[in-house]
Parts: sequence; C-alpha cells; structure tokens
Amino acid sequence: MKALVKHSPKEGIWMEDVPNPKCGPGEVRIRITHTAICGTDKHIFEWDEWAQNNLKLPLIVGHEFCGIIDEVGPQVTHYKVGDRVSGEGHITCGNCRNCRAGKKHLCPETIGVGVHRDGAFAEYLVIPESNVWPLHEDIPSEIAAFFDPLGNAVHTALAFNITGEDILICGAGPIGMMAAAICKFSGSRNIVVTDINDYRLNLAKDLGASRTVNPRKEDIGTVFEELGISHGFDVGLEMSGNPEAFNQMISLMYNGGNIALLGLLPNSTKVDWNKVIFKGLNIKGIYGREMYDTWYKMTQMIRSGLSVSKVLTHHFKIDDFQKAFKVIESGNCGKVVLEW
Ligand code: NAD
Ligand code: ZN
Repeated sequence: MKALVKHSPKEGIWMEDVPNPKCGPGEVRIRITHTAICGTDKHIFEWDEWAQNNLKLPLIVGHEFCGIIDEVGPQVTHYKVGDRVSGEGHITCGNCRNCRAGKKHLCPETIGVGVHRDGAFAEYLVIPESNVWPLHEDIPSEIAAFFDPLGNAVHTALAFNITGEDILICGAGPIGMMAAAICKFSGSRNIVVTDINDYRLNLAKDLGASRTVNPRKEDIGTVFEELGISHGFDVGLEMSGNPEAFNQMISLMYNGGNIALLGLLPNSTKVDWNKVIFKGLNIKGIYGREMYDTWYKMTQMIRSGLSVSKVLTHHFKIDDFQKAFKVIESGNCGKVVLEW
C-alpha cells in the first residue's frame, strides 16, 4: 500500500510502498478515504526536539482520519466490512485504575497512533475495535477526518460551564477556532479570541468569535468596556501554547475564574503563580478527548446544528501532500484535508 513514512531522522516525510497491515484479534482494518494534518504531524515533518525525543523510526505518521472498514479480525463483535468510521488515536491499556473507572483519557499507559505505532496516512490502518467511532450518515467524511482535534476543542470548551459566560480563547489555530464555534453553540456571552495571525483571527470570527484581538496590534484590556465585561473573563481556554498568552490570560480572568489548558507550553514557561492564588483561579489540564463522551457530544452537536465546516480551508489529493505541508507551514490555513 501507499503510506507517508518518516524513515529518516531529518526534515521531511516520504511516500513509500509498504506491506498492507493485517488485523490481529479484536482489531479492524480501515481503508482510509480522508486524513487531516495535525500540528503533531508538522513537528514530525520538521523533526524538532519533541519528535527526536519521542519517535522510533521508521513510522507511518498521521492520526486524524476517516474511512471504511474493509477487514475485521477474530473476536470483533461490533463492526462489519463496509462501515464508515473514524477513530480515537489514543490507545489505552484497559486495565489501569483510570481505564477501569471509565476515565480512559487519564490512562498513564496511553500510546498514540501515528506517534508510537503506525498511523493513518496510508491506504490502510489497523486499530483496536474499541477505538472505532462509527459515523452517523449526517456527518460528512471530510469533517469526520478531523474529529480528533474537534474532540480536543469540545473536551476543552466543555470542561467548565460556559453558558452565559464571558470566554477568552488564546490561540486561533484550528482547535481555538472550533472552540469558538462550540462556545457560541453552547450559549456563551462574549467569546474573545486572540492570535498573532490575522488570517486565523478572521476565520475565528467566521466560526463564532464575537471579538478578535491581535495582541501585537491592540491591547485586549480595551475590549472590556466595548463588550461590557466588568471585571474579567469567567472562562479561559488556552489553545496557543504561548507563555505570554497564558500569563495574559491569568491577568484577564475574573476572580474565581476557570482556565482549561490545552496548548502545550515550553518547559521554560514562567507563570505568575501568586496571581493564580490571589484570584482563586481554577486551572485544569486537558489531554485528548474523553472516551467516548467527547465523541458522542461532538457527533450530536453537529447533528443539532454546530457548524465547523469553515475551519476546513484546504483540500489536497494525497499525491500533493508536499503542497499540503507547505500550507501548514505558512500558518495561513485552518484544517488541511488530504483525500486518499
Ligand atoms: P496551532 O499551532 O495551529 O495554533 C496555535 C495558535 O496560537 C497559532 O495560530 C498561533 O499563531 C497562536 N499564537 C501564538 N502566539 C500567540 C500569542 N502570543 N497569543 C495568541 N495566540 C498566539 O495549534 P492547534 O492545532 O490549534 O492546537 C492548539 C494547541 O493545543 C497547540 O499548542 C497544540 O500543541 C495543543 N494540543 C494539545 C492537545 C492535548 O491533548 N493537550 C491536543 C492537540 C493539540
Ligand atoms: Zn489504562
């Protein structure tokens, strides 16, 4: 089969012909129709420090996908050949205390599809049956291809009560943009989104931000009076991974506010912890998606009118994957989907 393989420890990713994977017990094989590129794939492409420390090569990359089941292994009970599916890229142990308590997203043994085992940028992908998410006919495949990051947005945005609240989202990457749509859908009052990229701020506005701010051009504090926010934001969704943005968020929160942290911060990040203490802020780390509450919620929200289609800005045939990675590198994009 064709697959995008990281075969050498240097910048790049390469299309190769590799053997088709086979299903083991309890596994299904999916014929991939659509995949989407994640920031993680960009790190792997660039072969940055994180990639160097976390990957064993060669590896088929990618974990955002949609496709059709074309083979089921022994003991598979819930799916059949022909089912259209997406799937969870975090594979958990099933035996630890958290897994057994139904909190699989907190499993310390989690391994990642396309990071620790072969991924989805290939004609075929094998995953455990338990990781499959069956797709309702209302969900288009090109949207299902990025259910994984939509799930990050849903998991983060719904970590705290957002109805009627003033929300600050730092980072208008694909996840921040989709979080704005989710907050709007869920009845938030003001949804302020910050980014240093105006292309992305415009997209965030299209998706549901009530006000966007480029902190390099404008002081966020000035929007308080404009929007009638008296003391600060009630809920902060940190989706930039930028230390300055995170510290600014802490300064802009109302006392007792809630912050959900998704963006991965550099190790060198310094935080003004005393502000967190004096403001009585509540900070929650968010990893992945809740299995499988988040998947259920995003499916039903889309079926009930949540629209995230504007985040999909670029479409390429898989043979043009180099062009797709160039678009990702430019930053002037939302989600980039590859058709297999
Ligand atoms: P992204 O890199 O596309 O988006 C981040 C955005 O932050 C960019 O648009 C960038 O311009 C913006 N930004 C940079 N500096 C800023 C500043 N000072 N103020 C405001 N915005 C600023 O990433 P994404 O795919 O949308 O993901 C968002 C974050 O979540 C990333 O940090 C990613 O690594 C992280 N992530 C975490 C998980 C998890 O499970 N915790 C999962 C997926 C992604
Ligand atoms: Zn576990």
